[in-house]
Amino acid sequence: MYVRRGPRSGLFTIVAVHSTVRGPSLGGCRMWTYDDNRAAVRDALRLSEGMTYKSAVAGLPLGGGKGVIVLRPGEELDARRRRAALLDFGETVERLRGTYVTAEDVGTSTRDMTVIAKTTGHVSGLSRRSGGSGDPSPFTALGVVHAIEATLERAFGDPSPRGRTVAVVGLGHVGLRVAKLLHRAGAELLVADIDRTKRAEAEALGWRWTTPAKAMTAAVDVLVPCALGGVLDHESVPRLQAPAIAGAANNQLASADVADLLREREILWAPDFVANAGGIVNIAVELEPGGYDPTRAKARTAEIGDTLRRVYDDAAAAGTTPLAAATALARRNLR
Ligand code: NAD
Repeated sequence: MYVRRGPRSGLFTIVAVHSTVRGPSLGGCRMWTYDDNRAAVRDALRLSEGMTYKSAVAGLPLGGGKGVIVLRPGEELDARRRRAALLDFGETVERLRGTYVTAEDVGTSTRDMTVIAKTTGHVSGLSRRSGGSGDPSPFTALGVVHAIEATLERAFGDPSPRGRTVAVVGLGHVGLRVAKLLHRAGAELLVADIDRTKRAEAEALGWRWTTPAKAMTAAVDVLVPCALGGVLDHESVPRLQAPAIAGAANNQLASADVADLLREREILWAPDFVANAGGIVNIAVELEPGGYDPTRAKARTAEIGDTLRRVYDDAAAAGTTPLAAATALARRNLR
C-alpha cells in the first residue's frame, strides 16, 4: 500500500498492490469522494484483492492492484487541478517501478490515461489511436454474452439465446451493448434503467421497458444485472423468478452467503468476477509482447465461456456453489 500526497494537486493518491504472484498488479484508478483517507485505503485494499481473483480465475499473467485519487466531500476539481491530480497519480505509480499498472475506472477515462502516461510508463487502457486497447466496455459486454451462453447451456441444455427471454437491468456502457448483442442473437428483451431517458431508444429497438424492481423479479430465462453491486441479497433472492443469472455488475452478492441461498433456490449464478472479466482480458492483450490486437482480444474474451463451464463443472462435482468453485480455481491459479 503506497499513500502519497500529490505535490501539484495537494490530493492524496493511493496504490494498493494485493498480489504480484502471476504478474504485475493491474487495476483501475478510481477518482472518488471519501470521508477520510482511511475509508479510501480500505476501498483500495478491497478492490485490489478483487482484481487478484478476477485475473487469476481468467488465467491472465497479472496480479491485483487498485489506484485511488481521493476527493473530499463537496470537492469539485476544475480542469487544471484535475490534470494536476492525474499527473501526481502517475508519479505515484512510477515510484512502484512496474509492480502496479494502472487503467481507467470509476471517475477516470481513456483520455485521463493519456495524461497519467506523461508521468509514468505503467499505464494501460490508452486510446486505440495511441496503440492502446481503448474503451474496455465492448469487451466486457462480449465476455458477458459468452458467460450468458455458457449459463444457458447449463440451465437449459442449449447455449443459444435465440427465443430466450432476458432481463437486462442497467443500460449503461456495458448493459446496452449486452442487450444489443443478445437482440442480434434472437433473444427477447425486457430492459430497465433508473435513467428514463434510455426508454425511447430501448423501445425503438423493440425491447420491453419496465422498472428495475420489476425487471429483477421478472419470470424470464436469464437475469442480467448490469448496474450496481449488492443487488442479490436475502430480500431479493427469495423473490427472483429467473432460473439463471449472468451479468456485468461488480459485487452482485450483498454477502458471500447469498451464493448458498441461490443454490438452495436452484438458481444458477455466474460469479461476476468470471463473467465481467472481458475488459481486463482486453487490457492484458495490450501488455503482451506483440502489442494490442483486437482479433486476439476477441478470441481471449471468448475463453470466459470456457472458464465458466469449468466453474460450473467443478461446482457440480464438488457439490458447492459456483462462487466457491470460482474462488478455488483462482486460488489454484495463484499457487
Ligand atoms: P455505466 O455507469 O455506464 O452504466 C450503469 C447503468 O446503470 C447506467 O445507465 C445507470 O443509469 C444504471 N443504473 C444505476 N443504478 C441503477 C439501478 N438501481 N437500477 C437500474 N439501473 C441503474 O456503467 P458500466 O460501465 O456499464 O458498468 C456497469 C456495471 O458493470 C458496473 O457494476 C461496473 O462496475 C461493472 N463492470 C464494468 C466494466 C466495464 O468495462 N465498463 C468492467 C467490469 C465490470
